[in-house]
Amino acid sequence: SAAAETKRPLRILALANQKGGVGKTTTAINLGTALAAIGETVLVFDLDPQGNASTGLGIDRRQRRVSTYHVLAGDAPLAQAVIPTAVPRLSVAPSTMDLLGLELEMASSADRAHRLRNVLKDLNAPGSSTEAVSYVLIDCPPSLNLLTINALAAADAVLVPLQCEFFALEGLSQLLRTVEQVRGALNPRLTIQGIVLTMFDPRNNLSAQVVADVRGFMGEKVYETMIPRNVRVSEAPSHGKPVLLYDLKCAGSQAYLRLASEVIQREGRMPVAA
Ligand code: ADP
Ligand code: MG
Repeated sequence: SAAAETKRPLRILALANQKGGVGKTTTAINLGTALAAIGETVLVFDLDPQGNASTGLGIDRRQRRVSTYHVLAGDAPLAQAVIPTAVPRLSVAPSTMDLLGLELEMASSADRAHRLRNVLKDLNAPGSSTEAVSYVLIDCPPSLNLLTINALAAADAVLVPLQCEFFALEGLSQLLRTVEQVRGALNPRLTIQGIVLTMFDPRNNLSAQVVADVRGFMGEKVYETMIPRNVRVSEAPSHGKPVLLYDLKCAGSQAYLRLASEVIQREGRMPVAA
């Protein structure tokens, strides 16, 4: 059983899509919570200057004295930024608007694409006092900028949230090309974990059409689980809570639990190329 396993390897997943508003942050918070609920130890690394993942996990601005900016700038060790959340086994490295300036600051440094990879190397170091992390979920900004490139260079796999809307596939090709380029130049082991359709509305014919198109285009890369459009999901962040704490029984919470088990299953059966 899962409980009998002693050490799971660390897996780093980047939640990426250069479009805003597609469900990256919502998925980072709630997939992270669902993974923690089924026994994984999870760190959400907030790589978006907006800091919505940090806020949604109940971390207010004053608690972000040491942020992912400081960690990536080399001003503080990762452990100093990590804050526990109300969810057992789920912690977050919060972000602030300072991250906006990091790209420029890093531009001329030789390790600019590998800052995050180097930072995450410190996780689970021998002798570290904290519980070993089994999943890092990186919440990327809505752009294919240097921050996102850092995430792709550090990750084992990319998880792409795709909103069920007319232009869903537009932009996906560009993201897939970027993943290909990063694999070639920076991170040969990078794979696509999967594509998760978000904000699915069964009453909307367009939603069903988008699902058919995306499944036709990406086949088995698309998770069976779709995240329904659900008002509880959108309310939860204003309470600083993952939806699983806010309303465990709602359709959104149940979908994120199913997604978590699909993510774990895929770790076993899709070891290589995207
Ligand atoms: P991104 O991080 O890609 O910009 P967000 O996760 O912030 O996207 O989601 C954009 C908006 O959509 C947020 O206001 C969020 O609360 C809302 N949202 C996300 N997923 C759902 C859902 N399944 N049902 C209803 N609202 C959702
Ligand atoms: Mg976001």
